[in-house]
Order: sequence, then C-alpha cells, then structure tokens
Amino acid sequence: MILVETVAGMKALSRGWKRAGKSVGFVPTMGYLHEGHLSLVRESKTRADVTVVSIFVNPTQFGPNEDLDKYPRDLAKDSAYLERAGVDVLYHPPAAEVYPPGYRTYVEVEGLQDRLCGRSRPGHFRGVATVVLKLFETVGPDLAFFGAKDAQQVLIIERMARDLDLGVEVVTCPLVREPDGLALSSRNAYLSPEERQAALALSIGLRWAERAVAAGERDPAKVVAGIRAVLEAEPLARIDYVEAVDPGTLEPVAEMRGPVLVAVAAFVGPTRLIDNVRIAV
Ligand code: AMP
Repeated sequence: MILVETVAGMKALSRGWKRAGKSVGFVPTMGYLHEGHLSLVRESKTRADVTVVSIFVNPTQFGPNEDLDKYPRDLAKDSAYLERAGVDVLYHPPAAEVYPPGYRTYVEVEGLQDRLCGRSRPGHFRGVATVVLKLFETVGPDLAFFGAKDAQQVLIIERMARDLDLGVEVVTCPLVREPDGLALSSRNAYLSPEERQAALALSIGLRWAERAVAAGERDPAKVVAGIRAVLEAEPLARIDYVEAVDPGTLEPVAEMRGPVLVAVAAFVGPTRLIDNVRIAV
C-alpha cells in the first residue's frame, strides 16, 4: 500500500491509472476504522481495479462546539488495517493541503442539507459536500462507496454528483451493526460501558418500528412516538430527532407506505449518535 499525503501526489497517481485504463474505487473516511468502513473497502475491491481510501478529519464539517479536536485518530492502526485489507493507496492529506490559506469555495446542496442532521448541525453538509467534491477531484474515482449509516450524506453526495456531472457512480453499502444491534461508529469509542448499553436504545427503537409497521401500523406519528418512548425510557439518552421521511426528499411522510427512511439522532451522555432503517411496505 502506498501512503500519499499531497494533492499533487494523489493526482499524479490517478492520472497514471487513467492512462493505463484502470478503474478507480474510492472510500472516503475520517479514520479510526471499523468493520463498517471495511465493508466499503471490500465492495470497492470487488468492483474496481484500484482502491483508494482517504483518511481526513474534515474541519469544515464540524460546528464550533463539536468534537473536531477530540475526534479519535490512530493512523498507524488504520494503516495496518487497510494494508491487510489489500487497499492500494491510503490518501491522508494534511488540512493545509485541502484548505490552503485564503480558501473561500464551498458547495451547498440546497434543501437536502437543511433537514434531519442539517437542522441540528448547520453547515455540516456544506462541509461534507465540499470536501467530497475536492477529494473526487483529486482521486478521480469511477466509483465511490458510502455507508447507509449516513443516509442523508449519501443522498446529498448522489445529488451533488448528478447536479455537477461528476461522472462518479455513488454506491451505497449496507449499515453494519454490532451483534447486539448498535450501529458501528468511530464515535462509539467515546462511550463509557454504561453509555454503550444505553446507546442500544437507538437500534431497539428502530427495530420496534420495523415490527410495528410489519404488524400493520401505517401512521408515521405513532411510529415516531413509539421510538421516542423507547429513547425517553433511557435516562442517559437525549433525543435530537426522530423522523419518518421520504428517502428521496427527506420530507416527512404522511403514511407508512412505499419506502420510508426512519432516522434517529440522540445524545448518549455527551456523544451524538445516529441510526436509521429503511422500511419498505
Ligand atoms: P466516517 O469515517 O464516519 O466519516 O465514515 C466513512 C464512511 O463509512 C461513510 O460512508 C459512512 O457512512 C461509512 N460508515 C460508517 N459507519 C458505518 C457502518 N456502521 N456501516 C456502514 N458504513 C458505515
């Protein structure tokens, strides 16, 4: 595996692959890798000739009171993990390479960026869309792999790729969970043993919703209320939002019919976690 730390170095490699007619698969991450990230890597390796993983903790997607400084980082461990997984290139640029002094340009995906997580994290998806566009420009992927764990993020990236004619196929990979249901996340590293237990309320609430809909519940207000009740029964959890939305527009649905994205964000102690299920009736 090659470690690349400059924009110019990454672009040069990518140009070489293009000339050789090789397809490039790309997995953007913020590192502190887990099995969820690895599932994207595996998918890329089956679908593309060359696989690039980026590790970049993107400052522009963090709010002023968020966890940018304490976001978990372990480049040595991540690098060994990716090497074993057969990744070709680890792209790890410093922030000053991505955002040099005087940087002024941002991408906004209107509407979609303001719903769900966008409401409680203003500016977050502007930062995400901007860095992903820059990474696409540098890495030159044919295919880019994202996890359904961040359902709103994938939708926004898909929209951006189409709107800006990027020529990148955005592939959504399934959400990977722990055996007890907790969605894998780098932020799970923040949880104390008690918080780790309390965090199960998110997936328990969503599983309850799946069962309720399977049993015939069609009222989204009742589905949302049921999930809220599960979370409210957990003293360490504090709800940010629970919503049942159209997976294409993220607008609240009037009825649990067709595909519905049921999405949750909650603080467990100081840690904000998200989870979702897509229910198809
Ligand atoms: P992150 O490092 O958290 O920015 O995530 C990088 C990529 O990994 C994103 O496309 C995420 O959606 C994906 N990802 C993170 N956690 C999971 C998970 N539990 N299952 C599937 N994909 C995930």
